[in-house]
Amino acid sequence: MKLKLHWQIFIALVLGLTFGFMSRGMHFEGFVINKVAVFGVVFLRGLRMIIVPLIVSSIISGVTSIGSAKNLGRMGLKTFTYYISTSLFAIIVGLVMVNLIQPGVGAQVGLQAAPEGLAANAQKLGDTLLGIIPTNPLAAMVNSQILPTIFFSLLFGFFITQSPAPYKQQLTDFFQGIFEVMMKLTHFIILFTPIGVFALMSKTIAQTGFDVILPLVAYMATVASALLIHAVVTLPILLYFVAGVNPLAHARAMSAALLTAFSTSSSSATLPLTIECVEENAGASNKTSSFVLPLGATVNMDGTALYECVAAMFIAQVYGIELSFGQQMIVVFTALLASIGAAGIPMAGLVMITVILSAVGLPLEGVGLILAVDRILDMMRTAVNVWSDSSGTVIIAKSEGETGLKVLRSAVSQTGSA
Ligand code: ASP
Repeated sequence: MKLKLHWQIFIALVLGLTFGFMSRGMHFEGFVINKVAVFGVVFLRGLRMIIVPLIVSSIISGVTSIGSAKNLGRMGLKTFTYYISTSLFAIIVGLVMVNLIQPGVGAQVGLQAAPEGLAANAQKLGDTLLGIIPTNPLAAMVNSQILPTIFFSLLFGFFITQSPAPYKQQLTDFFQGIFEVMMKLTHFIILFTPIGVFALMSKTIAQTGFDVILPLVAYMATVASALLIHAVVTLPILLYFVAGVNPLAHARAMSAALLTAFSTSSSSATLPLTIECVEENAGASNKTSSFVLPLGATVNMDGTALYECVAAMFIAQVYGIELSFGQQMIVVFTALLASIGAAGIPMAGLVMITVILSAVGLPLEGVGLILAVDRILDMMRTAVNVWSDSSGTVIIAKSEGETGLKVLRSAVSQTGSA
């Protein structure tokens, strides 16, 4: 019997972890970092290869099937309401936890040098928002600029629906065809996920190890427990009560994507798997998933938003700077913006913290405090980001009256497979 993909990935993850630790104990981490890691790079390049054509074809074919401007507007409104509200819920959980645990008060943590170019990134949020409109859509695609690519694809898809016969049908069929091909290609690349995950995990552990973690345990525990609350309480409540979806069944449907998000630390790289799991296992339509997921992978980052807030508050605590209620509200708001502006790539969230630090006047070097453990927290927050994107898709799919969902509460209790 062939082992299911999510089990293969899970086993690869555990083996990668073990192998990474062994490499540190037995001093062959150089081999892991230089040689084994190559398989991870190959896998990531494969995923990145398909992101742009997958996003373009998926959005255009999705929008053409949504049809009218009215439907599109309704879908857009629901989607953004979901993105913003869940991100705010996440930030608030983070804020409460960091105020309760106070991991930074009296902490003895070493300051590493902040990565170069950090200050330059602090001003970039406004540019990111403006940059959503590409001056040259092809250049945006060629340079993997996801938001402008999405923006153009949405418009292009919409205006296909407004075109006269026979072009409307021809173009709809054409992009539907490309999307089918891209899904087949995605299928193929996904087969290599276990190898990629093994390599990425062992490399991360070989590089990070335990020593850097210890002084920052309280901080990591704060982020991790807040993420956990958001992932296992807040989002499941929405799934269960708003969409009538069984959260456990949904988690099982999404497991391959969640494990991949965890090991790649990239929502964008995980997108092909997220689409596959949401459509094939959770049963949402391509119409909904192609609208909610590509956009969600860059815009909707609950885990990142939460992390931004906790990290900024932690830095303030370490420096002994008391933030007023008003300042904490600025942290909440800028954490939301920073999560929207962050790209779905590894460590994007770390860079965006500078936006918050400068908004409330905290020292930018504070980023150096949390640098060492960012990679590990990145894995967790990325998994939460993808979990929220996928939950949003089934919630919106249900609200659109979709009947094909396989993770419904009733369907699960009927088959008794919960
Ligand atoms: N790595 C995250 C993601 O791709 C973004 C972040 O760094 O927070 O979702």
